[in-house]
Amino acid sequence: MKDIADIRADFPILKREVYNKPLVYFDNGATTQKPQCVLDAVDEVYKSYNGNIHRGVHFLSDMSSEAYEQSREKVRSFINASKSQEIVFTSGTTGSINGIAFSFGESYINKGDEIILSRLEHHANIVPWQMMCERKGAVLRVIPINDKGEIILEEYYKLLSSKTKLVSVTQASNALGTILPLREIIAAAHSANVPVLVDGAQGIQHGIVDVNAMDVDFYVFSGHKIYGPNGIGVLYGKEKWLAELGPFQGGGDMVDKVTFEKTTYNELPFKFEAGTMNYPAAIGLAKALDYVSDIGREDIASREKELLSYATDRLADIKDLRIFGTSDHKISTISFHLKNIHQYDTGMILDKMGIAVRTGTHCAQPVMDRYGIDGTVRASLCFYNTKEEIDFLVKGIEKVKSMFA
Ligand code: PLP
Repeated sequence: MKDIADIRADFPILKREVYNKPLVYFDNGATTQKPQCVLDAVDEVYKSYNGNIHRGVHFLSDMSSEAYEQSREKVRSFINASKSQEIVFTSGTTGSINGIAFSFGESYINKGDEIILSRLEHHANIVPWQMMCERKGAVLRVIPINDKGEIILEEYYKLLSSKTKLVSVTQASNALGTILPLREIIAAAHSANVPVLVDGAQGIQHGIVDVNAMDVDFYVFSGHKIYGPNGIGVLYGKEKWLAELGPFQGGGDMVDKVTFEKTTYNELPFKFEAGTMNYPAAIGLAKALDYVSDIGREDIASREKELLSYATDRLADIKDLRIFGTSDHKISTISFHLKNIHQYDTGMILDKMGIAVRTGTHCAQPVMDRYGIDGTVRASLCFYNTKEEIDFLVKGIEKVKSMFA
């Protein structure tokens, strides 16, 4: 793997100081920082070939369209989808799930049908389904978790029934870090003829994702969590599903022929891309995927595993600190709580030391309810973090404790 100093040098923001202290960025679960090559790729679009895609016959439009479609192909190969028609660009994970919840609901859901989610879901994989259920009279069923923050598979198997129309689960919990047993979840759903959507917002950046090998029906993620720009996301769907589903937005580019009486839709994947897409961000995302591939996805996974293990050991040594999410299968995210100290106080004191952590419910209130808490402090690490930074976090936590002693 590339030397850590060289990796850090790729990310301009990591050089900055906050409050005259070096930035220690541990909020990668919320959004990752961007390497220079991604910033350059987006800049280059606007500086030298910006033209609206799929519309003009002119040089710039052609160039932008070509770069956008090459980005789609890059995403396809990154997640090993069979065809680029199966890759739909969206605004992000939230946009992708809302889209599928709408289209799937309109096509397949009737009164009394059931959708299975897990207790570990981010609100983005709860609320769109809830809205759809309200519209269609369907019901959400929830896979419970144990004290370690792992889903209870036996309970999932019991929930699957002839009423189940879809299973939608996260690849990894953003709040606790738990990695879900997707192989078992998908196999059981498929043997009951039920499709599965995987929310990859906290999975794609931590290792190799192969949608073909997973045999997943829908896979969604956000560009900004994998070192790409904001405002771009991906919706992968098996061709057979995308071909059957209706569009979730109407507008320019997603149509074939429009009259006031009737509209016919464009072919895949354009049927799902209404209006001017965020092509500069898609082009930036493709560059981010190149960057991650160049660093090496297996190397990223093993480096993050090492950081997680180091951080877990160091934090576990701190008296009166409780870690939430203690599964053996975790992404490099640690959620914790200090006895008798509110997470916002901890977060604010760490911030003044230049350490960026997330505090609160992490858009996963049902997870917090499961433990009877109103939030945690979350340090989400990634490959550009260092053990020295983790040591500094430990120092920060000790400082917080001493201030509240
Ligand atoms: N799903 C999970 C597991 C997440 O962690 C997040 C964001 O933190 C989302 C969905 C929503 O992602 P976005 O806000 O990029 O749409």
